[in-house]
Formats: sequence, structure tokens, C-alpha cells
Amino acid sequence: MKAITVEPKKPGTAKLMDIPEPGIHEGSVLVQAVAVGVCGTDVEIVEGKYGWAPPGQKHLVLGHESLGRVIDPGPTSGLKKGDLVVGIVRRPDPVPCPNCAVGEWDMCSNGLYTERGIKEINGYMSEYWRIEPEYAIKVDPTLGLLGVLLEPSSVVAKALEQVGLIGRRSFWEPKTALITGAGPIGLLAALFAKLYGLDVHVLNRTEGGPKADLVRELGATYHSGSVKDLDFEPDTIIECTGVGQVIAESIQRVGANGIVCLAGIGHGGVSPISSIADVASAVVLRNNVIVGSVNANKRHWYRASQYLARADRRWLTKLITRIEKPENFMKALQRSPDDIKVVIQFSDI
Ligand code: BGC
Repeated sequence: MKAITVEPKKPGTAKLMDIPEPGIHEGSVLVQAVAVGVCGTDVEIVEGKYGWAPPGQKHLVLGHESLGRVIDPGPTSGLKKGDLVVGIVRRPDPVPCPNCAVGEWDMCSNGLYTERGIKEINGYMSEYWRIEPEYAIKVDPTLGLLGVLLEPSSVVAKALEQVGLIGRRSFWEPKTALITGAGPIGLLAALFAKLYGLDVHVLNRTEGGPKADLVRELGATYHSGSVKDLDFEPDTIIECTGVGQVIAESIQRVGANGIVCLAGIGHGGVSPISSIADVASAVVLRNNVIVGSVNANKRHWYRASQYLARADRRWLTKLITRIEKPENFMKALQRSPDDIKVVIQFSDI
């Protein structure tokens, strides 16, 4: 079968190649790939900056934002042939650490977790894949191709859960949420924050365009420019850009008792903060919390599927801005400013 693979840490090695079909040891549920979303992590892996092949192997099959159709449900899954499913990304570490032992692999404390398509387990960018029943999430069939948005949605569901949990440390009634970045994570965060009834603001680099329209269609407010120029102090900020300047300004702009959740991953840049001590003092004096959030456990996948099921399908459809064939995967990895979610489609829905 065809699969999109890479030799991790070696730029320029991504290719569509023939590999053997997955063996039963990879899971009792056999799935035909429908589509796989592409995200910044995939780009980093292809650029040779991130990613690990399975132990003893040269190639890693890419892809962690899956959607597939069950071909053989196996004896124990309870799934049916034809069901649409998405595969969970992370697997607990083998020790296991206390977090993995209780199913909170997203909070793995020893770093020995594995991730499909990212860290030591083959991903979902192959014509067929297998999965253990307990890591297959059944997708509402009416979502169709939109089921491919479940993985990024799970990451957002976790981030929002973290904010809610932390908020309970005091009497906190958040009214305004600022989302920085209007990529898939930012837009899904705006959608879900709206479902919570918050007054949602989205800040992005570009003025106007399809992303601004999507924000307004949600009943949220779109801002371009910098966080420091906003004329309000958000109760919470979900930072989805990973850009140093935006992060620094977010920490200084959030309201008293506010929570900044860092969900974007960036690198490099120059330090925009002249004194970390000054920033820390502002955080201390206003009881602010800065929290990082990555990945998702089953609870978040479940929540995410509930949120997606409630969302307006026409709005969600506009998040998928481009569909590429597997042979054009390199095109899928090159994103233009108006791209939101690009997916690689392996078979008809
Ligand atoms: C994925 C997460 C993963 C993280 C770090 C993200 O792109 O969505 O599931 O934990 O990368 O590898």
C-alpha cells in the first residue's frame, strides 16, 4: 500500500512509498484511510526538526489527524464495517508514569509516551491502518469529511478544560476570551468558547479576508494588529500563534485573576521581554496563571466530538480550505495565508 513517510531529522526525505499493509499486532481494527489533516507539526517533521521513527526503523509514516472507514472491526471493538473512526494520537508510556497509569497520557510525566505519526509509532497517512479498539473514536456519520477536524478539536477541548479547572481556584466568572491566531486551532477555540457563552475576540495578523469572515459568522469580534493595542483586558487568552511578541503581550494584557493558556508551538525569534522579573511581578500582583497545554486524553476526544456534533456544519466546512491527493502531499504541506486546514484525501467519503 502507499504511505507518506519521512526519515525523521533528515530534511528532504518525505516521499510517497510502498510499504506492507499493517499487521494485526498494530490493532484488531482495520481501517481504510479517508483523509488526514496536515498541521504545523507535520511541516516540522518534514523539515527535519521533529519526529522519531519506530525503534529500529528508518521511516516514520506521517499523519496524526486521521479519519477512516472501518473495513474489519475485529472481534472486540463493537464497531461496524463502514463506521467512520478517528485514531487517538498518543499512547501511554510503558513504565507507566502515574498520569499514563490513570489514562491521562496527555500529561505524561516521564516523556516516554509515543505518538502516531510523530513519535515512534507509524501515523495515519497510509491507505490502510490498524488501531487498538480502545484508541478508535467513532465519528458522528453526519460529520462526514469534517470528522478529520476531531484531532485539532481534542487539543482545543483540553486547553479549554485546563482554563476551566484553573479558574476554579478562586471566584472567577470569565466573560471575555481572546484567541490569538486564526488558524484551525484558533478558530476551533473561538467556536468552542462561543458554545460556552463567552464574548469571544480573535486576533490575527491579517486584516479582513476569509478568516475574519469566519470569526464574524460565529458572532465573535475580529482584531488585527497587536495584543497591546486592544482596549480591553480579556479574562482568558488562548494563545495559538507561538510567536514570542504575541505571547509576551498576552501575558501583560490578560485581566486580573486571568489565565493565559499557551497552545501554540513556536521557535526562535528575539526576546521581546526586557525584564522577565517585571513581567513576573505583573503576573504575581494580578494573580495571573500562565499554563501550557498539549495533546488530549480520551475525555477531551469525547468532549471534542460533542462540540463538533453541535457546531454549524456550513461553518465547519469552510475550515477545510484545500483537499490534495496523496501524490501531491508536498503541496499540502505548503500553506498559503488563506489556507486554514489542508487535508490529504486517500479515498472517497
Ligand atoms: C499534536 C499533539 C501532539 C503534539 C506534540 C501536535 O501537533 O496535535 O497531539 O501531542 O503535536 O507532538
